[in-house]
Amino acid sequence: MSEDTMAVASPEASEDQRVALIDDPITVGELAEAVSRSPIDLLRILMKFGMMVPITQAIDFETASIVCAELDIQIGLRSEQPEAPVAEAVEELPEAEAEADEAAPTASPTAARRSLIRDVIGAEAPQELLPRPLVVTVLGHVDHGKTTLLDTIRQANVVESEAGGITQATGAYQVRHETDGQIQLITFIDTPGHEAFTQMRARGAEVTDLVILVVAADDGVMPQTEEAIDHAQAAEVPILVALNKIDRPNANLNRVMTQLSNHGLTPTDWEGDTQVVPISALTGENIDDLLDTITLLTDELAPRANPRGRTVGTVLEAHVDRKQGVTTMLLVQNGTLRKGDYVSTGNTWGRIKSMKAFDGALLREAGPGAPVQVLGLSEPPVAGEFWACHATKKQAEQQAKARRQQDRVADQATPAPEDFFAFDQLQEEKELRLIVRADVQGSLDPVLSSLRGIKQNEIKIQVLRHAVGDVSANDVLLAEASQAMIVGFNVGVERAVEERAQAEGIRVRLYRIIYDLVEDIEKLLSGMLEPVYAEIVIGQAEVRQSFLVKGGRAAGCVVVDGVVKSNAQARLVRPGSQERSTRITELRRYRDRVDTVSMGQECGIRLLDINDFADGDLIEVLELQEQARQL
Ligand code: GDP
Repeated sequence: MSEDTMAVASPEASEDQRVALIDDPITVGELAEAVSRSPIDLLRILMKFGMMVPITQAIDFETASIVCAELDIQIGLRSEQPEAPVAEAVEELPEAEAEADEAAPTASPTAARRSLIRDVIGAEAPQELLPRPLVVTVLGHVDHGKTTLLDTIRQANVVESEAGGITQATGAYQVRHETDGQIQLITFIDTPGHEAFTQMRARGAEVTDLVILVVAADDGVMPQTEEAIDHAQAAEVPILVALNKIDRPNANLNRVMTQLSNHGLTPTDWEGDTQVVPISALTGENIDDLLDTITLLTDELAPRANPRGRTVGTVLEAHVDRKQGVTTMLLVQNGTLRKGDYVSTGNTWGRIKSMKAFDGALLREAGPGAPVQVLGLSEPPVAGEFWACHATKKQAEQQAKARRQQDRVADQATPAPEDFFAFDQLQEEKELRLIVRADVQGSLDPVLSSLRGIKQNEIKIQVLRHAVGDVSANDVLLAEASQAMIVGFNVGVERAVEERAQAEGIRVRLYRIIYDLVEDIEKLLSGMLEPVYAEIVIGQAEVRQSFLVKGGRAAGCVVVDGVVKSNAQARLVRPGSQERSTRITELRRYRDRVDTVSMGQECGIRLLDINDFADGDLIEVLELQEQARQL
């Protein structure tokens, strides 16, 4: 339907475009009221972020903005203080210690192990998204040549600028590579190794678009190569194999390609879909081919972000420099970061006093995919932490303060032992991720086949790793990053590993009888089953007129009760006729498409497969509400 065919005339035409002003912090219930949405909608989004909170829970402004962004609703902070002039504010960095605050504890999705970046970009208008450089991480077994590869690429290809020089590892660097006359930037994360990669992911960070798996051609696939594959696959990041050390006399490419195929990475030369590039990181042989292949994959993966959108990203590295103070390496993942911007990350915040490229060149602004070194944060944040720009100093400060309060609450909370079966939170993907350990191969196989035999249609069991031997620190790391559970059969856990698991809230369950293991998993799955929903009427709109629109008719209505929501299930009720079930396919206030319209307001409604409207028809708007599950 065209934009102008469904306009319903009214004097307050631009009212719905206004931004809802809210307090910070605000309870979920209050927020729902402020933005005219059902609190259940908001709770669902919070659950998606891994936050199970009651309606009375206070959330901070940042969290509220993210939730509302999911619903395409704009919000602003009420009673905004006028901002301090730029020059003064630069000096006004926050005190290191948080003041005690009596406000309600707040929750922040930065604590939830889920990428906020994806959500931010997902909320951007698709037509605003532009290509950005690919972000690459190098993984592989120790001594297979990760550091040498990163150094060789950096020395040969680094983007040099007038003021900059090649510096030591700073967390990331960018190279400019030309393929067929086309120049492309590639961002390399230069802390190699799956420990750093997984720790980032454990914090909810998703920075990597592509993993380069370095495998030495003379040594082949080794235990850490296998782990790296598990980590990349668990993160759902594609793998490009750099078959390194081909200059070595004992290099055996065929042997390694067979091993890779056995691990599900069949080379394209063998009609698989894994790109394998033989290289020598030491002599530089074929490094150009490797970069060409990355360029090829960049076209395929088509990473995108909105340089004019919300400015957010991930902290790559931070340290305190004796002369300069807190120096932080940030990866910009959406929007454009500018000198003078207010930034919050974790429980710290600040104003960007200076910004440099990874090689030291001064920058005024940096867009998506760029790694930058900034000065101005009050304390060093943790690598993997989400960061965001704020319009005002107050918002940045409040966000950091809210996070400090939340950390304090989290520190006091002790995990309940019965947590094991408290798995009934709605998960976006219905999936139980497991890491399975057994004492010998002979018992691992029956455990795996028993797990496969569990009959359960709604939730998928995904085994991220299965191996023989005791539960290791790396298992805990993988579980942490993937929100997985570890089950062991006839194995033990070292004390230090157990402590780490406990500290991170990772479930580790050990069994001596396979039947017990299977039974527990079955119980766990039944706790995760889809809840039962019932239909309730959330609003009613009365049809006052109908008019022709492209492809059918729309109804001009007044909402007489509750709310009307776009895409909601609905019923058309006409006295003397059979009710008709349908769905709202379009909802407009005047010319604008909107998500909700509240009681007393006029709106235009289109219904799926219904084009005959009569005065006095009633459109009942339905919503599914969660009911207690019948066991
Ligand atoms: P990392 O532990 O994976 O970071 O491995 P390094 O980059 O530190 O490399 C380990 C050793 O392998 C060093 O002595 C490197 O000089 C050597 N090395 C790395 N790449 C190559 C290569 O392509 N050919 C040869 N002959 N040696 C290499």
